[in-house]
Amino acid sequence: MKALITGGAGFIGSHLAERLLDDGHEVSVLDNLSTGSIDNIAHLKGRAGFSYTIDSVTNESLLAELIDGSDVVFHLAAAVGVKLIVEQPVHTIETNVHGTEVVLKHANKKKKLVFIASTSEVYGKSADVPFREAADSVLGPTDKHRWAYACSKLIDEFLALAYWKEKKLPVVIVRLFNTVGPRQTGQYGMVLPTFVRQALAGQPITVFGDGTQSRSFTYVGDVVEALVRLAGEPRAVGGVFNIGNMGEVSITDLAVLVKTMAGSCSSIQYIPYDQAYEAGFEDMPRRVPDITKIRKLVGYEPKVKLDEIIRKVIDHMRAN
Ligand code: UDP
Repeated sequence: MKALITGGAGFIGSHLAERLLDDGHEVSVLDNLSTGSIDNIAHLKGRAGFSYTIDSVTNESLLAELIDGSDVVFHLAAAVGVKLIVEQPVHTIETNVHGTEVVLKHANKKKKLVFIASTSEVYGKSADVPFREAADSVLGPTDKHRWAYACSKLIDEFLALAYWKEKKLPVVIVRLFNTVGPRQTGQYGMVLPTFVRQALAGQPITVFGDGTQSRSFTYVGDVVEALVRLAGEPRAVGGVFNIGNMGEVSITDLAVLVKTMAGSCSSIQYIPYDQAYEAGFEDMPRRVPDITKIRKLVGYEPKVKLDEIIRKVIDHMRAN
């Protein structure tokens, strides 16, 4: 199989590239390095079947050529990270909507299988946990920029499913739940790499809000396993799948766990949301996936537990 990974120099994309190469596939990466890094794929350069291009998915002639040479497209290129979204809403909306639009348009010309990376953020502040794929999205008002991310990803989902329904373009939509692991950067606000960096530097660990909000963190290797299984399952086409781990942890407990595992003397500092993000910022209290659908179709089961993930992230950050 020949795979094109947009955003392949990003955190998840680089792990997917490595796994596909290990499985004997050819991988081509397209990334503009906006949030990705060449360091993430440096170890893949020179491997048989690997190639990369530093450019944007909006370079349509290049994109069309790369799609032509592939059997499957994993469209992971996107603006991600709550901090980035709140600070640069125009960039977020334009990148996420337009990027997916051009990928689907060109994939459709040759009817190439496309994976669209969506997010658990699309469930918004729904309290109906665990979240099932068929559940309602509950988003806040449009003057709260955080919701622009969920909304941009929902448009991506609608468009992909419209291509499937109307033009029979094979698409698979995956909703990722707080993916974590080595190579993720805290630069755009993600909590685990931020906490680990703070703990290792002996700086205060910054818990936003009262810390009772919880998340279900999924190891990047488990996400990649799910993608590989779905790519090999024709019945996944036209479907929307949660990819997550049902284990739940409060952000305060996460801070304590990171501090303990890093052997850190850091204090834990509580910061109100309006200082951390923007006035009126809305967070969701819980976000837990229901993974019945993907489990039934491809036998997906997340394997790596939170303490093991934290250990790997600490080791990786110490080494780098
Ligand atoms: N968070 C935090 N401190 C940080 C970064 C994030 O307490 O330095 C909180 C954030 O407010 C949210 C949770 O950790 O409640 C997860 O944040 P992240 O941005 O990683 O992902 P989200 O689930 O919000 O998309």
